[in-house]
Amino acid sequence: MIDLHTHSTFSDGSESPERIVELAVAAGLGTVALTDHDELGGLARAAARAAELGIRLLPGCEVSCSFSPGSMHVLCYFIEPGAGPLQEELERLRADREVRNRSMAERLALLGLPLSYEEVLGEAGGKGVGRPHFAGVLVRKGAATSIQDAFDRYLAKGTPGYVSKARVDVRDIIERAGGSGALATVAHPLSLGLDEDELDRTLAELAEAGLAGLECHYGRYDAPTRARLVDLARRHGLVPTGGSDFHGSYKPDLSVGTGAGDLAVPDEAVEELEARRPMP
Ligand code: AMP
Ligand code: ZN
Ligand code: FE
Ligand code: FE
Repeated sequence: MIDLHTHSTFSDGSESPERIVELAVAAGLGTVALTDHDELGGLARAAARAAELGIRLLPGCEVSCSFSPGSMHVLCYFIEPGAGPLQEELERLRADREVRNRSMAERLALLGLPLSYEEVLGEAGGKGVGRPHFAGVLVRKGAATSIQDAFDRYLAKGTPGYVSKARVDVRDIIERAGGSGALATVAHPLSLGLDEDELDRTLAELAEAGLAGLECHYGRYDAPTRARLVDLARRHGLVPTGGSDFHGSYKPDLSVGTGAGDLAVPDEAVEELEARRPMP
């Protein structure tokens, strides 16, 4: 079993990169990917712990792309810190994320909520701030009863505290990933907000543009949905990938490897990705 989607303290997870690797070993996984939002900073630490414990660390990251009606998150694999076209774009995204975060903090304060940007930064440990950290502060201050409650009332798209951040075209990410020796895959595809025909057409276009995989085995999808997505991926020549989207205490229902309990991502996914890995 493997898990190709986890978040650490380098973005909006509550656990360190080392701890994620330890949890993966405890779950009996052969491979774990660390896929922090816009961020590669945790990869070296995760890789060092993985080498000590004898598990494979697949380096990755997650990027928010522009898409409507829903949202499109792209998981990139085989991406390493250093110079390169994708790395360059991640730097730009991190800078914009900070501007967005400051403006969200202002907005929430104007709504009368007990929150400052400094507190959110503190919640995040000084880096990789995301909306779950805002939620954490709101819960701690008693302004929300849970992380989900904070999202539902103040942080989700369409609620009064939400401010959007810069998004990039998925084709640009696919191309940059290629230039960086990495692969791009679409995460939690139901978030795209498409019906079956539209999803089919979109995947046909993206596969043509060089998309490598589709996250079929997702922590929060039921078994029939996963099976349907595997069929879809195969039809478009995409690797059916999968992962938990583990965030530690920010998504308390999800565990490394097993997701909401019944996740089991097949080992072949990482072998198939490896086979499609571009030469940098
Ligand atoms: P950000 O990158 O700062 O926009 O935050 C994205 C994070 O917030 C991801 O980890 C999402 O899983 C989480 N998130 C986004 N929308 C929701 C929602 N409606 N409910 C709970 N978590 C959400
Ligand atoms: Zn996240
Ligand atoms: Fe995501
Ligand atoms: Fe994620």
